[in-house]
Order: sequence, then structure tokens, then C-alpha cells
Amino acid sequence: MPQQVNRSYSRRRRKSRFPYFAILLTLALLVITVAIVFMTQCSRPKSDQTPSQISSAGTDSSVSDVSQASSTSSTIDPSQAASSASEASLPSSAASSASSGGTITSSPTTPVNGVVPTGAGTGLGYKSSDWRLRIPNIDSPIEEDEIPELSTIESGGSGKFYLDSRAADDFDAMMAAAKKDGMNLYVSSSYRTPEYQKNLFEKRVKAAMANGENRAEAENTVAKETARPGTSDHMLGLAVDFNGVKNAFKDTKEYDWLIEHCAEYGFILRYPEDKVDITKVSYEPWHYRYVGKEHAAVIMEKEICLEEYVQDLG
Ligand SMILES: [Zn+2]
Repeated sequence: MPQQVNRSYSRRRRKSRFPYFAILLTLALLVITVAIVFMTQCSRPKSDQTPSQISSAGTDSSVSDVSQASSTSSTIDPSQAASSASEASLPSSAASSASSGGTITSSPTTPVNGVVPTGAGTGLGYKSSDWRLRIPNIDSPIEEDEIPELSTIESGGSGKFYLDSRAADDFDAMMAAAKKDGMNLYVSSSYRTPEYQKNLFEKRVKAAMANGENRAEAENTVAKETARPGTSDHMLGLAVDFNGVKNAFKDTKEYDWLIEHCAEYGFILRYPEDKVDITKVSYEPWHYRYVGKEHAAVIMEKEICLEEYVQDLG
């Protein structure tokens, strides 16, 4: 009898233990589930934070962020230089958003301060703030630290010459086409550093002063043919002088060829003979300026100068 009791007792115990283990098992599963959910939730914000953490830590991803920012700013810089100071804030804001780990949302096709840059697929919606239409002058000089991204160009002769990288391919194509048509074009001047332009202007002012002009007179005289520091197309890396910078160039077949074909490659005759009162610069048959094919086609077709064209755009 006691044995039976014992047996039934032990059976009861075994019976009563069973739900206890089930509860333990359920609890354990619950804990595991909670742990999994917790880990999943934790890992989500972590993956969001990763770019900023990595970028501030200076790993590869940050390098690509920074290079993206610098390429954005170097691409935009000259164009922004072309316009107002408020627009010039774009590269720095893009750079700061990159340094804080944010995604750069601004692109050359995004409206900035209400201005839609070209290439935005807006057809004829060009604005005078287009980098290709930049007219540096005394009121809006090129800053000394504004250096465009440069590429070497086909010079047609000896020496290394540079243009803004965005104009270089079109220029090389123009040189190749000219050569194919039997033209002998060679570059005499293209991109100039701010220092070079400053020294060039100063040298010529001193020469004019040596001829008896006072400083102001000398500057005005020289400015008709040599741009004041900060106001030269050459400093933008968008201008080229051909074949020795001579007035006689206008009587050559190379000049005729350029007048006929330069627009096909995005270039214009920058200082036409009949526009001196507007450009305030003497006729320069040797000086060509990159403005892009769309603009060049209109300017050369209508035989207007860049100032007139930009004024029409508003
Ligand atoms: Zn020139």
C-alpha cells in the first residue's frame, strides 16, 4: 500500500512537473523572442547611423562622401562664382551636409535659390546664372581662390594649355575638325592664373604710364585690350586666343573657319568689331569664349555679343 501511495505520489509529482517545465519552456521562448525583437530594433537605428559614424571616423565611406562633396563643389564652384554670393553658399552647404554625414541632395539639376541651372531638362529655361555665361567684371570679379577644374587641351602647337574641364572636350573636337579641314590653328593663350593676369595687366599699365599717362588713364587704356585682374575670361578657363594674338588674324582662312564653325563646338567670338560700345573691349578676332553649344548657336546666328545675350535672358 505505501508502495502504491509512493508510486501514485511519484506519478503525481511527475504529472505536476510537466506543466511546470512547459511554463519554463514557454518563458524561455518568450525571453528568446524578446531578445530577438530587441536586437532587431537596436540594429535598425544602428544601420541608419552607420554612414555618419563611418564618415566622422574617416573611413572609405567618408572619403567617398567628401570626394562627392568636393566634386560637387568643384563642379558648381565656377558657375556659382559666376553668379551671386548667395548661390556661392551651395558648395559649402553641400560640403557641410556631407561632413555631418547627411546625403547630398543638391545636384546641378536642382533649383538653387529659385534658379534652375541648365541641363535640368527645362528646354529653353536657361538663366544668366549658367556657369557658361559668366561675365566677370569689376562689379563681379573672379576671386583669387576660384580655380576651375582644368584639363589640358589640344594646342595645335607646342606648349601646354588648359581649359575648364567642362569645355576641354568640345575644344579638342573643334581643333580636330579644323585640322581635318586643313586649318592651321594653334593656341596662344588659354587659362590664366589670377597672378598671371594681375602681372600682365600691371606690366602694361606701367608701360602706358611710361608714355606719360597717369595711373587711372593708363588703367583705362590697358583695360580695352587686357582685362583687369579678376575680370578675364581666361581666368575662368573658358577663353582661348589663337595664332599669335594678331589683328591680321581676321584676314585668314582660319578666322573665317572659326566664325563659321565655332558655335558647333560651343564657342563664340567674344569681342566682335561692332560691339565694342557694349563689351568695352576692342575687337579681338583671335579671342574665343566657351558658352556651350545651345548658347553659342544663338549668339553666333544673331551676331550679338555675350552681354546682349545674357541681358535678354534676364
Ligand atoms: Zn584673350
